[in-house]
Amino acid sequence: MPEFQFTKLLNLPNLEVVKDEMPDAETVILEIKSTLEVAICPTCKTPSTTIHDYDDPRLVRDLSLSGRKSYLRYHSRRFECAVCQRSFTERVAWLNFDSSYTKRFEEHVYQLCRKSTIQDVSAFLELGSDAVEGIFHRRAKKRRRHARRGRSAS
Ligand SMILES: [Zn+2]
Repeated sequence: MPEFQFTKLLNLPNLEVVKDEMPDAETVILEIKSTLEVAICPTCKTPSTTIHDYDDPRLVRDLSLSGRKSYLRYHSRRFECAVCQRSFTERVAWLNFDSSYTKRFEEHVYQLCRKSTIQDVSAFLELGSDAVEGIFHRRAKKRRRHARRGRSAS
């Protein structure tokens, strides 16, 4: 399958699949790169187009593709801000900073955990139970925070 079709299938914003690998019958690894040319400096909010460096690639688990465990190989980019001279890592909408899972994968884990046990979800997704539990509690906490904010605003 051509890479642009993987990009369409993946359906995540502002990124492109540049390579696909299927190291075994159960796994697919999609190498991706960001198509955005600008990142916003977290310190002074100035847009920057100067790429300073690329971090080492990491594997980010995503929703399964046709029953294959799916991983994105992602090199996050470091930009340099022309105003405050600092370099910073680009933030992307589909991934929490420093997480090894896409946001939609975390949501999937959370929803499964609401209907079954951590052990069942762990076996089903072939993901360690500590990881499953960690994702579940992080998301549950976030939801409680949102709920509280919603109530105090009304
Ligand atoms: Zn700046």
